[in-house]
Formats: sequence, structure tokens, C-alpha cells
Amino acid sequence: MTPKNIIVFIAAAAVSLAAANTRFGDSAHAIGVIKANGGSARHASHLDAGKDAYTLIATATVIPPYRGDARITLEGEPKLDCKLYSSGPVLDLGIRRHPVFREDTLFDLQPKDRIAIWAVIKPPAIDPVCGMAVKDDFVSEQHGGKSYRFCSDDCLNNFRLNPDKYKNNAAQGKYTLAFTDTATGKRVLDIPVLLGGKEGAGDGGHQH
Ligand SMILES: [Zn+2]
Repeated sequence: MTPKNIIVFIAAAAVSLAAANTRFGDSAHAIGVIKANGGSARHASHLDAGKDAYTLIATATVIPPYRGDARITLEGEPKLDCKLYSSGPVLDLGIRRHPVFREDTLFDLQPKDRIAIWAVIKPPAIDPVCGMAVKDDFVSEQHGGKSYRFCSDDCLNNFRLNPDKYKNNAAQGKYTLAFTDTATGKRVLDIPVLLGGKEGAGDGGHQH
């Protein structure tokens, strides 16, 4: 990578990040390498709990000799709504080529390609007392300017008795943004994504 390309690449990522911040409120950036026998991210991406949506921008370089098509999925429980977007025109700035991205798959990855994907991730709303996923028509309560929903009057009553204990509870979990070679079924890149919880409390990419 020439210095000029690096600057263009960083600038483009920054533009995407700024746009993502404006639109989605919270974002993180993961940098990784794609390898035939399993690439990795430089570090896990942390998403603070309690936001409505997140944008995770993943940039990666293809390490020779890998070439192929890679499908991208967000793995982990509970399932999160995740929409994937490719770099699109924003990154089309002096980068020699970039692979075709359709739906959830990067086609025709070649050695030394650089890719940028962003994932818009929406965690489910949960009952802060029992942790179950809640829908819009569940019983709701306002507290401290935030709206909470509960699966039952029991959970609502528990919340009213001790709101400080429950008010910061939000969906959390360990996830992996996984890139899987469509021909071999092998993982070519794993990006650990930690939703909520405390930084450093995890055990390094292990999944539930
Ligand atoms: Zn409940």
C-alpha cells in the first residue's frame, strides 16, 4: 500500500464513520486480515449497551494467496438484526479494485484487495428485569426520560421497587462478524463483536 493510498483509505473510512455517526448514533471500526486458513481482527469491537442501533465498519486486507468469495454473517445469540453494506462509491477513491458485494457476499476477492463493509446492527429491546425480548405492545413505563417495556406486571412491579438495579440492563452478548469462504466453508476472517458488558471482561473472542 502506498502512503497516498493509505491516506485516501483512512480519509474514506473517516467519511463513512462520520456519516455513520450522524445517521446511526454509535459506531465502531474493526480492522482485520482475510486469510485462507482463518484471518483475524486486530481487536474485538465493543458496542456500548443500550443504543437503538450501531454501525460497525470493518476494513480488511486479503492476504495472499487467498482468493475466493466470502459470505458475511453476524453469529451469536440472541440474533441481532444486521444489514450489510459495501464500501460503495465512498471508497472508490484510488483503490485499484474492489470486489463485488451482493447481499451478504463479497465476490472475487483477490490477494491484496482491501475491503470495507459496514454492518448496521440493531439489538432487540429487552425487558430489563428478566431479559426477555419485548415487543412494542408490551406494558411500558417511563423512567428517567427513558422508556422501558416489560413482559408482565410482575417484572414491571420489580422494576418499580428497584429501578436503579435494572435501569441500565440492555441486550448484550458476544458475537462474531464471520467471513466464510463459500467454496470451502472455511472461515477466512472472524471479527469478535462485544455488545454491552465491560471491556476486558471477556475471554478473547470465545462465543456462547
Ligand atoms: Zn419479564
